[in-house]
Amino acid sequence: MSKYRSETLAIRIQNERSGEAEHSVPLYLTSSYVFEDAEQMRAAFSDEIEANIYSRYSNPNVDELLEKVSRLEEGEAAWGTATGMAAVFTTFAALLQNGDHIVSSKSVFGSTHQLFVNILPKWGITTTYVDSIDYEGYEQEIRPETKIVYIETPSNPGLDIIDIKRLAKICKAKNVLLVVDNCFATPVLQRPLTLGADIVIHSATKYMDGQGRVLGGLIVSTKEIIDRIQAFARHSGPALSPFNAWVLSKSLETLHLRMEKHCSQAFEIAKRLEKSEFVDWVKYPFLGSHPQHDIAREQMSYGGGIVTFQVKGGLQAGRKFLDSLQLFSLTPNLGDSRSIATHPASTTHSKLKPEEREAVGISDGLVRLSIGLEHIEDIWEDLEAALKGE
Ligand SMILES: *Cc1c(COP(=O)(O)O)cnc(C)c1O
Repeated sequence: MSKYRSETLAIRIQNERSGEAEHSVPLYLTSSYVFEDAEQMRAAFSDEIEANIYSRYSNPNVDELLEKVSRLEEGEAAWGTATGMAAVFTTFAALLQNGDHIVSSKSVFGSTHQLFVNILPKWGITTTYVDSIDYEGYEQEIRPETKIVYIETPSNPGLDIIDIKRLAKICKAKNVLLVVDNCFATPVLQRPLTLGADIVIHSATKYMDGQGRVLGGLIVSTKEIIDRIQAFARHSGPALSPFNAWVLSKSLETLHLRMEKHCSQAFEIAKRLEKSEFVDWVKYPFLGSHPQHDIAREQMSYGGGIVTFQVKGGLQAGRKFLDSLQLFSLTPNLGDSRSIATHPASTTHSKLKPEEREAVGISDGLVRLSIGLEHIEDIWEDLEAALKGE
């Protein structure tokens, strides 16, 4: 398999056939596995032979997905979890201990923020936030207890682009692990491990599934780090279900194709919105007007499928716009074949004070669009009519 390119690997990495000569991999819904005899069972439990024991530890469908994802991200090994948040929590819980410290970019996913502020402190793990692109800030906040620098790029929903290579150099010099939530980009757009990051995390729920069906989380890193994660996860149980892994592995077969379409349509919509008289501003990584446009072009192969913009007229206008949409779904998911619109100020980030929202780049009129795979003109006509208030 090593000679093939990632489009081919995403399709052709596959479990060995079961003996039925099936072309598509079967689903292994089994909680445990049987042994020939007592000796084989003993050897499996003491890691002398590689064998499935119990599906909290391993499962053929999960293994196939992990093999694919670690190849796509160019890591050595991977681990799967029930949700993206379980991947984030498992990473911290496996690698950190009481007294350790995290430095994180300020704009992170809402539940990740809750982990930092309300949950990890219960075990004496604290977090300091830094402005996403304040590289000196990261350097200054790293102290002897700091074990992890955590970032999202592009960030949700601010679409900040952080220079992974530059931050990785700072982290290496300080002997701190750089963890990147690569959910918005997927390995099709950006491979943080090749830019110097140590760990990549995914909510597979988003673009990897791509059709809004299943939840899943993935962690990709070196063999040594994944072994430490596995040691924690085997006994604490955030396992990815075989069914979800089967769905996700199938979905990855079309990831490249879908991402190219999501991105080309999102770029076109961003350009059209920028020209609209009903819009204050548009943010999209590949638009020349994006403040980190150059870094985006350097580290990403496409601009992504998410566009944010501000409707003229603030909160009221933003809500009226959402109510006027007919094709777009109003739902908190993203990375779906269906186009989705959300209003972070009144939903995912409503618990933050207006100043806190402003500090992470969420104005009251900000709308986040996840551009789907419908016909581009149908998407545009829906947006245009809603902007006009029709
Ligand atoms: C959705 C999301 C998560 C959490 O993933 P779940 O699968 O919903 O648990 C984490 N990070 C980012 C950037 C996300 O968009």
